[in-house]
Amino acid sequence: MTPSPHTVLALCAHPDDAEFRCGGTLHLLAQRGWAVHIATLTCGDCGSAEATPNAIATCRRAEAEAAAATLGGQHHTLGGLDLQVFDDNGMRAAAVALLREVRPDLVITHFPVDYMPDHEVASALARMAVFTAPIPNYVAGPSASLPPTAGVVPLYYFGPLGGVDYFGNTITSHFYVDISEVIEPKAETLGCHASQRDWLRRQHGIDQYIEEMKQWDREAGRIVGLPYAEGFSMHKGHSFPHTPMLEEALDGLVRHPAR
Ligand SMILES: [Zn+2]
Repeated sequence: MTPSPHTVLALCAHPDDAEFRCGGTLHLLAQRGWAVHIATLTCGDCGSAEATPNAIATCRRAEAEAAAATLGGQHHTLGGLDLQVFDDNGMRAAAVALLREVRPDLVITHFPVDYMPDHEVASALARMAVFTAPIPNYVAGPSASLPPTAGVVPLYYFGPLGGVDYFGNTITSHFYVDISEVIEPKAETLGCHASQRDWLRRQHGIDQYIEEMKQWDREAGRIVGLPYAEGFSMHKGHSFPHTPMLEEALDGLVRHPAR
């Protein structure tokens, strides 16, 4: 197999988060030859009102693997439990081990402020792992057996759900990716999460799971005059590279909002 020119890692809290919030961008990168990895802190053990935690987690792990496969990619899990996952030593070591194993060229995660605590934990862990993976003397837990990465890589946040912070203030992303040409492949990838899709479909009589994703992406698109878009902001804190790797990879599909 020819090695991929680049590798993207989406590190999120739950199965379906990456597919929902940046699945279009992952499709565009995959089309350009990028290797796609999606990692989740948990397997979504609270994602059902009927199945047991173990049963739904097993089901959702299979769904996440199927979704990643539609991108020619791989799914990883860090073994946490929904609503019981923290930015602690164990999860930090697991996140750094993941970075050292996958060795991504860029990382995508949740916005630091979001409606759901697990999302904020995932964001903090992704930021910590990107910063720490190159540090040779960080040898905690499973990270110890893996060589440090070459350096800190660009880190991007997709927007918070609903595009607002805790106070209802609008969060405008640094830039938006035109995903109009891949909205149906994105829907197909998201649709692999059948356990989440089916109960909503039963409940509402419409394909609410897919429709909601399209509605959020239409709203993001409206900000920059596109049918469908996904918004991203780059982490620009000290020591993080400002190289616009994602913008350059998707040249021609990137729009900046009016400021
Ligand atoms: Zn989530």
